[in-house]
Amino acid sequence: MSTIEMNHITKVYGDGFKAVTDVNIDVADGEFLILVGPSGSGKSTLLRMIVGLEDITSGDLVIDGTRMNDRAPRDRNLSMVFQNYALYPHLTVFENIAFPLRLSKNKVPESKIKEMVGEIADSLELREHLDRKPANLSGGQRQRVAMGRAIIRSANGFLFDEPLSNLDAKLRGQMRTEIARLQRRLGITTVYVTHDQTEAMTLGDRVAVLRRGVLQQVASPRELYEQPVNLFVAGFIGSPPMNFLPATVGDNVLEMPFVNLPLPEAVGKAKNKGDLVIVGVRPEAFEDANLVEEVHRHEGVTFTATVDVTEWLGNEKYAYLPFEPHKDVQQALNELDRELDGEAMRTQLVVSLDGSSKIRQGDDAELWVNPDSIHVFDAESGDNLTRDESKARQIADESEEDRKRELARAQEKEPLKV
Ligand code: ADP
Repeated sequence: MSTIEMNHITKVYGDGFKAVTDVNIDVADGEFLILVGPSGSGKSTLLRMIVGLEDITSGDLVIDGTRMNDRAPRDRNLSMVFQNYALYPHLTVFENIAFPLRLSKNKVPESKIKEMVGEIADSLELREHLDRKPANLSGGQRQRVAMGRAIIRSANGFLFDEPLSNLDAKLRGQMRTEIARLQRRLGITTVYVTHDQTEAMTLGDRVAVLRRGVLQQVASPRELYEQPVNLFVAGFIGSPPMNFLPATVGDNVLEMPFVNLPLPEAVGKAKNKGDLVIVGVRPEAFEDANLVEEVHRHEGVTFTATVDVTEWLGNEKYAYLPFEPHKDVQQALNELDRELDGEAMRTQLVVSLDGSSKIRQGDDAELWVNPDSIHVFDAESGDNLTRDESKARQIADESEEDRKRELARAQEKEPLKV
């Protein structure tokens, strides 16, 4: 049981490159924290500083109240699971899992080793593979062996560096669930690096979003999704990604391609008439107007637009609507896209409709959008002008309550103590 505190952590590499800048994150006891960001944003560097594989240039790393900057990796008592699993090819599964116990300063009796490996092998469904070598295992099984080896040490914390990136999509999904379950059952403080926003959103109690070594926001998945602090976080979280549309501030109105929406009060205060802003609308904020019940129609704005392409996925239907880009914001948005490794096409609106929608490609379709769900960003700084701090706090409180409840339930129902 441990807390991990990162206080003003900075990393400057030998060649002068600043990979991590002044990062502050407190990981609570038993919490599952995700470090996410595009490639090169400093996630691995930060993780390696926590585990002790990389020197900390400045700032303090505090584990359970003790400053750890100068402690050797083995004295930090953290277990790391690497992307390539780092299993010993000449050892059996049993010996791979038992390895940390054999290294341990206090000699563990053979019978105890057998018992512990057996228990872990059962929980990871590895019992029948204990005599095999890693080369004869599937990717998912190797992954579980690596986890078993990490668990057996009864470490103060788990650190994962992109553990699922070598697996195919189906196995990745399974292992994701497995890791989440194990983490809850063990109740071990965990820091997990990924560049995959789906993994981040599904696994994390809280998610820390990094951009070029700078922490943008650390919050629960729901808060990141509903109350992102800036354009970068908004664009990173959500699939398909949030639409960004150029808009001009008018009299009580935002003038946008396709539709004008009521001007949010906060934007009216921060901006003047004629100013350019960027409006963020998630695909799921739209609906086929014909499918919106009469009683809810007035809650949104209805407009007509030509649909270029549709994709039907069964439970939902995506429709794509091209629009004229605005030269003053397009460059910034293109840059953002490159940084996000984005596949988004920023000159078309993507809307997600109910699967039963009859809208076809080429139609002039009647669409409905809920203006309460939009975000308005400063075109230059990218700051979210419509972020609601009190709502954000409320979401944070609720998420923290959920986390504690889940952890307690897992501990009560199926604790795994080693
Ligand atoms: P991520 O894990 O988010 O992909 P990294 O932490 O691996 O990012 O790297 C962050 C930045 O630091 C990158 O720009 C990378 O090129 C740079 N970097 C990583 N290792 C070194 C090193 N040993 N010397 C100099 N720069 C490095």
